Amino acid sequence: MFTSIKSRLIIWYLSTFSLVFTGLGIFLYYELEGIAMDSIDSHLHSEVQFLASFLREEEKQGHWGDELIELSTAAVGEYAISLSGHYYQLVSQNGKIIARSPSLAIAGASLPFKGELPAPSYKIIIGPGNEPLRMMTQSFKLSAGTVTIQAADTLKETYYLLRSFNNIILTIFPIAFIILGVGIFMITGWSFKALNNFSRKIRQITEKNLNERVESQGMETELKPLAEGFNIMLGHIEDAFAKQRQFLLDASHELRTPTSVIKSYCDVTLKKARGEIEYKEALTVIKDTSEKMASLIQKILDVAGLESKEVLLKKETVDIGSILSNIYKLMLPIAEENNIEIFLEDDKKIELPGDKERITELFINLVDNAIKYNRKGGTVIISSNIKNGFAVITIADTGIGIPEKDSSKIFDRFYRADKSRGEVKGAGLGLSIVKAIIEAHKGTIEVASTVGTGSAFKVMFPLA
Ligand code: ADP
Repeated sequence: MFTSIKSRLIIWYLSTFSLVFTGLGIFLYYELEGIAMDSIDSHLHSEVQFLASFLREEEKQGHWGDELIELSTAAVGEYAISLSGHYYQLVSQNGKIIARSPSLAIAGASLPFKGELPAPSYKIIIGPGNEPLRMMTQSFKLSAGTVTIQAADTLKETYYLLRSFNNIILTIFPIAFIILGVGIFMITGWSFKALNNFSRKIRQITEKNLNERVESQGMETELKPLAEGFNIMLGHIEDAFAKQRQFLLDASHELRTPTSVIKSYCDVTLKKARGEIEYKEALTVIKDTSEKMASLIQKILDVAGLESKEVLLKKETVDIGSILSNIYKLMLPIAEENNIEIFLEDDKKIELPGDKERITELFINLVDNAIKYNRKGGTVIISSNIKNGFAVITIADTGIGIPEKDSSKIFDRFYRADKSRGEVKGAGLGLSIVKAIIEAHKGTIEVASTVGTGSAFKVMFPLA
């Protein structure tokens, strides 16, 4: 029912407020009542004690009878005014009223007497003037017999005070409740307005305006990190989109050349009737070009597949030594063809969990590059080692080297250093495949290179 944070907040706040305020009101009411009663009781107590000690004293002096008359007539102040709400009366042990304050006597009234009570007893009664009274009763043993002294004071003022307190509380409560409720409603409204603006802004962002950002300046402190985090995420998405777009452009660009070669060969050949040799030549070119195209498409699919999701690798124990030695044997004829010497230095057995096919593919790429970008009479050294829990495999060459400005970009898709473009064939995808395979194995690759001297690609795989 209350699914919004705003309504929950308001309900929680107002119910807590009502509970605390009502509890506090009830507590204060009873505290106040207790204080007022205590003060009346202590007044009644001293009144009764005073009368008792007065009687004892007079009894000692033998003025007992006169004194009773005096108590009934000579009282002053509130005790002398008829039904003033301030009374006392003395009752003998046979239940007869032997003296009472003029405030009772004038009106011919008395306080209710229910028998002797040796300990002081307090109770609330309805007095002769129909008003609420607090009455104290206590009996005292005198030589003339037991005398019960009763004193009572009106509770009118006390009840009036409590009623006023009640009224104040009952007036303040709804006002405070309304003010607080409206306040919370407005504050939550303001806060959530910012959130609403924020979500409206998010909804407007599509792939067409990914460069837009949410304005976090002037935003509520609590929302700022959300906006900033969202902007960072937008940045990542924008980069990914840009890379994707570039990839598409580069891929189509790369595929355009072989496609036009095939098309123009077909056009030229089909223009007129040709001899068998000419057809053969044309078909050979078309076959070679479509093979290159197929290999390029395979590479593109490889890169896209390797980078787009968690690569599903066949995990097995891979013997790096045997992979490198197979690659060495495979590449030896190609190296010889290019007048390049190739060496394999691996004296330690290295085994690690991985995908044998993919790891073979990555080292073929690196060795192939080391031959491709080498010089006549140059060398390629394949070496492997174990260092700090890592298998370290280095492919070093004595080739053209990589300019510093290019060394961080050569792992990007379709990137080729300027010098390689014209002179050596390639699509610029090999190293991005290499990097993706290494990363899928939680490994790293580094390159150290000097232009004109050579390059060394260092691959590191965690052994465990
Ligand atoms: P390709 O070889 O098809 O161009 P790669 O992704 O394998 O694509 O390499 C990207 C670029 O990195 C190459 O074009 C080249 O400029 C540079 N490169 C790679 N390996 C070497 C190397 N061993 N020596 C010099 N340059 C290299």
